[in-house]
Amino acid sequence: MKKKILVTGGAGFLGSHLCERLLNEGNEVICLDNYFTGQKQNVIHLLDNPYFELVRHDVTMPFFIEVDQIFNLACPASPIHYQYNPIKTIKTSVAGAINMLGLAKRINARILQASTSEVYGDPKIHPQPESYWGHVNPIGTRACYDEGKRCAESLFVNYHRQNNVDIKIIRIFNTYGPRMHPHDGRVVSNFIVQALKNEDITMYGDGEQTRSFQYVDDLIEGMIRLMNSRDDFFGPVNIGNPGEFSMLELAEKVIQMTGSKSKIIFQPLPEDDPMQRKPDITLAKKELNWEPKVHLDEGLTRTIDFFKTVVK
Ligand code: NAD
Ligand code: UDP
Repeated sequence: MKKKILVTGGAGFLGSHLCERLLNEGNEVICLDNYFTGQKQNVIHLLDNPYFELVRHDVTMPFFIEVDQIFNLACPASPIHYQYNPIKTIKTSVAGAINMLGLAKRINARILQASTSEVYGDPKIHPQPESYWGHVNPIGTRACYDEGKRCAESLFVNYHRQNNVDIKIIRIFNTYGPRMHPHDGRVVSNFIVQALKNEDITMYGDGEQTRSFQYVDDLIEGMIRLMNSRDDFFGPVNIGNPGEFSMLELAEKVIQMTGSKSKIIFQPLPEDDPMQRKPDITLAKKELNWEPKVHLDEGLTRTIDFFKTVVK
């Protein structure tokens, strides 16, 4: 059945893929964005669709509309962007969640929060199950994002307990793919752009720190499955690819796949940069029958092809 769906942060990297998928499934989509890190370019191909609407709005201000579902993605996600104006990042996470939860409560809509593996901070348990409470520095440079997202999770759960709002919480692990911003400083986009330009590959720290990367299509599938999951399951649920790589391995793979002449140079590790990250996806498998399908090599090939069209 056709649904009316609001996607906040819809002009961003993940939001644009979500809008596209929801439209392809025959829904009506309202994409809300203040274009802080997102761009019209990401959704320009959707503008001809009469069931797609684009609204310039900031989630820290209330917004009124009648919809069936809300995906709350609005929030800068890359460290350089969320640290550019940390107070605004906290306001976006916290005031944005309050505004969207208030809307969901008023119109009886189901609402999904895009949370993050950053709620686990620099984890001391490996891999990370949802039951782990995390290891977060509340006053560090990443705290505006980590604590903002943790507070948003708390708001979601309390709107559910106190007001019976129909909530879902997804904890997204590092995701990559076409339409990542070429200058947002995240590792996959940085390494590919540097490799395509034959520039130095900037390795922070010794490169032994690990991450687990999932391709965007796998994430969107998990997000939609969670949104449409049974009424009495709200998560939080980890969605990520358990394949774990060091940043050195990633750099070597990108250099090899692009045939680049780039050399790896070492720079200081940013403050509170987590050493290890890998999702335990047992819950997603059990509740959503979900697991990632796209292998790193295949996802990187598609992502490199995208960056070849934007890197001049
Ligand atoms: P992105 O920066 O590309 O997208 C975020 C979007 O939100 C942008 O279009 C931006 O303009 C918009 N936005 C920011 N502040 C806003 C505000 N106050 N009002 C309205 N719009 C606002 O990042 P992304 O990678 O697409 O991430 C989307 C969501 O997923 C974020 O909530 C992020 O925290 C979460 N997430 C992403 C990853 C990842 O690896 N990409 C991992 C974990 C969680
Ligand atoms: N990183 C790096 N070089 C870069 C960008 C990032 O070595 O040019 C490292 C970064 O220090 C971190 C990892 O890659 O250890 C992932 O960084 P990203 O910002 O993509 O994600 P997050 O740290 O939020 O998981």
